Order: sequence, then structure tokens, then C-alpha cells
Amino acid sequence: ATPTALMVGTGRGAQLGILIKGPEVLENTRRVDTVVLDKTGTVTTGRMALVAVHTAEGTDRDEALRLAGALEHASEHPIARAVATAAADRLGDLPAVEEFRNVPGLGVQGVVDGHAVLAGRERLLADRSQHLPPVMAEARRRAEAAGRTAVAVGWDGAARAVLEIADAVKPTSAEAVTRLRALGLRPVLLTGDNRTVAEAVAAEVGIAAEDVVAEVLPEDKVAAVRRLQAEGRVVAMVGDGVNDAAALAQADLGLAMGTGTDAAIEAGDLTLVRGDLRSAADAIRLSRRTLATIK
Ligand code: ADP
Ligand code: MG
Repeated sequence: ATPTALMVGTGRGAQLGILIKGPEVLENTRRVDTVVLDKTGTVTTGRMALVAVHTAEGTDRDEALRLAGALEHASEHPIARAVATAAADRLGDLPAVEEFRNVPGLGVQGVVDGHAVLAGRERLLADRSQHLPPVMAEARRRAEAAGRTAVAVGWDGAARAVLEIADAVKPTSAEAVTRLRALGLRPVLLTGDNRTVAEAVAAEVGIAAEDVVAEVLPEDKVAAVRRLQAEGRVVAMVGDGVNDAAALAQADLGLAMGTGTDAAIEAGDLTLVRGDLRSAADAIRLSRRTLATIK
């Protein structure tokens, strides 16, 4: 490959909203046959909104929102921002949180007003022997079947609420998946979210359930990419989060959403400046064309 021809490719990339770390990264795109897509913030907007609060009998909904909101105020996760924003809008100033801890891929914990509070996946609470009462578990199931994320909230040793968070699929994601397929690539959806939500999102953009890898812990995202590589696939990965950084670095080609975190952008080979998934297809098409001209 002549450096001059590759530089032409990178110039065109800038016009298309694609920033390329160095011309040499394009060489890796030629054999890519699989494109792994992170869900939250990549296929979906990641701008989540609280749409419902379900509480166990005898539990006040504002109390649930106050404790969960105060706790989530300390987290940067898009889910946490939705909860904290809704709580502050409804209740005003929120109490401070002490002993805050992020439990990667599961949720958060901390102490609010002397209550030990947990918020996150049902498993986070179940691991600490806080089991959702049947009515609440049913609310969680219904929310997830509708493609929403359910946040279980527990305090003082019991699971007491389920918050329903909605996150919209980006309007351009379905078209992006069609374009990636047209390039002969197989799209795979990879997420820490649960399978029901993941499959609902996959169906919306045209990814088959068998190509959904769900309930993956952040440190296992890189293992999921490695597993595909071990099957002989050449993998491009598109992601935006801190939890995607290692997988972006592991992939044969890492594409970071420009709207995402610095950690993802640093780990990626390319940045999709506009946060539009269609740029992933543009990037792969452009680099193949650039490489074809110089062969
Ligand atoms: P994703 O791969 O969808 O970007 P993460 O790996 O960051 O998601 O988190 C996996 C799951 O853990 C989320 O879908 C959510 O259910 C739960 N979770 C993580 N962080 C939080 C939080 N701060 N509050 C509530 N739930 C959380
Ligand atoms: Mg994400």
C-alpha cells in the first residue's frame, strides 16, 4: 500500500464524518466479515427516560424514586442519568450518597439517608438475597418484553421497586444494518442488557435472535469478540462506552461513536464523528475502495 493513496482515503473519510487514527488501520478492514454492535448508545440513542415506577405493597413511589435517584446521581451510566434526572425533576434536591460503588454490568450500590440501597439488574439484588416479590417480577417481565430496561431497586435488605426505562433505537440504525449486510458483513448485537430487551431491539433493526449476545459483563465483551475471532471471523466492533474499550481494542477494527466516551474513542481505530451507525458502513466501504485503488 502506498502511503499517498491511503492518505486520500483518510481525507475522504473526514468528509464523511469518519476520523481515522492512522492510514494503516484501513488495511485491517479488507477481510472484516462480522460487525459487532454494542446496543446502548450505539444502536440506540442511549438517551433514556424513566417511564414508570412500580413498587411493592406498602412502598411509597416517591421514596423509591428519591433513594434510587440519589444513588444514581453518582453514576454516569445512561440508565442512571435517566433515573437521577426524573427524580430531581419530580422531587427537587436529592440527598447525598455515601460509600457509592459501581458494580460493573450489574448496577450500583451506596448508602442514602442511612439506607443501604441497590439499583440495577435483578441479579444484583438476588446475589444479595433480595428477591423481587412476584408482582414486581411480573412488572419487570412485562417491561422487558416491551423492549424496556427494568431497574430493580432494593433497600434495607429487600427488593422494593422496579423502574422502567425506555431507550429509543436511533432512526438510522435499521438502514445501517441493511447497508452493513449489503457489504457482506454479518451484524451481531452485543450487550450487557438482558436477552428479552436485546432481542426486541435486534428485531427492530433486522438482526436475528441467533446473532444476539446478551447479558454479557463488561469484562466479557472482549471475550465475546475473541470467541468470534477464534471461529475464524474477522471482527469489526462498534461501541461507545467505557465498557466497550477493551473489546474495541481487541477487534480487528474498532469503530468508536464520536458521541461516546473518551475511553472508547481512545481504544478505537476509527471514530464515527456523528454517532450515526451508517458511518460504519461508509467507513468499511471507503477503506475497501481505497485499498482496491492501490492494489
Ligand atoms: P450496555 O452493554 O447495554 O451498554 P452495561 O454493560 O453498562 O450495558 O450494563 C449492563 C446492565 O447492567 C444494564 O443494561 C443495566 O441493566 C445494568 N446497569 C448497569 N449500570 C447501571 C446503573 N448505574 N443503574 C442501573 N442499572 C445499571
Ligand atoms: Mg454502550
